[in-house]
Amino acid sequence: MTQPLIDIRNVSRHYVRGVDEVRALDDVSLTIAGGRFVAFMGPSGSGKSTLLNLVSGIDRPSSGEVLVAGERLNDLSEDELAHWRARHVGLIFQFFNLMPVLNARDNVALPLLLTDLDKGERQRRAETALRVVGLGHRLDHYPRTLSGGEQQRVAIARAVVTDPDLIVADEPTGDLDARNAEEILTLLRQLKNEFGKTIIMVTHDPRALRFVDQALHLDKGVLLEGEAAKRADDSIRLAAGGGLVGAAQAS
Ligand code: ADP
Repeated sequence: MTQPLIDIRNVSRHYVRGVDEVRALDDVSLTIAGGRFVAFMGPSGSGKSTLLNLVSGIDRPSSGEVLVAGERLNDLSEDELAHWRARHVGLIFQFFNLMPVLNARDNVALPLLLTDLDKGERQRRAETALRVVGLGHRLDHYPRTLSGGEQQRVAIARAVVTDPDLIVADEPTGDLDARNAEEILTLLRQLKNEFGKTIIMVTHDPRALRFVDQALHLDKGVLLEGEAAKRADDSIRLAAGGGLVGAAQAS
């Protein structure tokens, strides 16, 4: 069997808050194959962001193992983790996190500053990434002159410019209207279909179910399985308004 891209083994993440211990994640195990588009869903406080931060090497587990792209992240020092992230992970945030003083091209080229590429090559790669997300005509535009949907496209170009194995998105449609949200989900799906990217996304957006290969449901730090997972899936599909029949997966 080929190695999954993500292998989470009996992972717990506990925080101490005053005299209490918060179990943000409690003995979670899961595997995700390369080239999949997966959503983490669940109520607020269920552990979605904690899981996303562990998978992307931003945080470490209290116990258990996190293996991603062939690396056991538990073993890496802070410095090694930062380098690993730069090579393997592209991050997308709810509020885009673009630098207001840089145009689209320079925003997208930023992660390449950590590489040996010269300036010309960094700019060329940034332009290619912006064309991939449909913004070849906005290279010199500053974030304030772009719509929310366009700003998120720039952020997606920045996430893919280093050609990472894994794209990690935290509520990428949370600050967008319905039309832009669908366009961003379509673009993410395209990155999976055309470039084989693995995408992990935290979302509350019921529309997302039409675009992902799989939704994993968390509740109180535990991954729902079997009937409980199916019930959570069904209630989100109903919330999406499409009912169970209309919720056919996008290709
Ligand atoms: P979600 O993303 O599903 O809203 P989180 O992963 O952010 O949930 O949080 C899960 C639980 O862990 C929550 O109860 C939250 O308050 C707690 N938590 C998250 N981060 C911290 C922290 N740094 N310190 C203490 N508690 C935390």
